[in-house]
Amino acid sequence: MSQAKYDERTEQHIASLQPDFADRVRQWLAECRQQGLNPYIHFGSRSIEEQRKLRQKFLAGGPKAVDPERSYHCYGRAFDWVNITDADGGDAGLAWDDDKTYAKGTHIGAQFQIVGIGSGDNDHLQDARFGTFADLPRSEFGSFPA
Ligand SMILES: [Zn+2]
Repeated sequence: MSQAKYDERTEQHIASLQPDFADRVRQWLAECRQQGLNPYIHFGSRSIEEQRKLRQKFLAGGPKAVDPERSYHCYGRAFDWVNITDADGGDAGLAWDDDKTYAKGTHIGAQFQIVGIGSGDNDHLQDARFGTFADLPRSEFGSFPA
């Protein structure tokens, strides 16, 4: 990919979020860039069906995934990101294992009410205005812009 392609996909994923959250994610992105990071947002909202499949895979021994009802992605209030170190370097140009960079991005999130969920889920950030999944508006479940 190229920087332009990453930016285009990042914007598509931001546009899939609830508008008030998307606004804060754009501010977060700008501040990250200001501080020398180059985030690529590779996931935004996720359909209930897609999350259900991920959950089933997890129960069959795959990567960790919660039920759709508990996933902020299914309410349009979470995103997954990775820092780009070399936009033209393919997967090797993405800092998947860089804990320090993730910590910095998570720290920057605080001023925009964006939080991480801790251990093992470095790349995931979500809306801090909702303390737990039980606080998320039911009307937003499976219902988001894209
Ligand atoms: Zn996530």
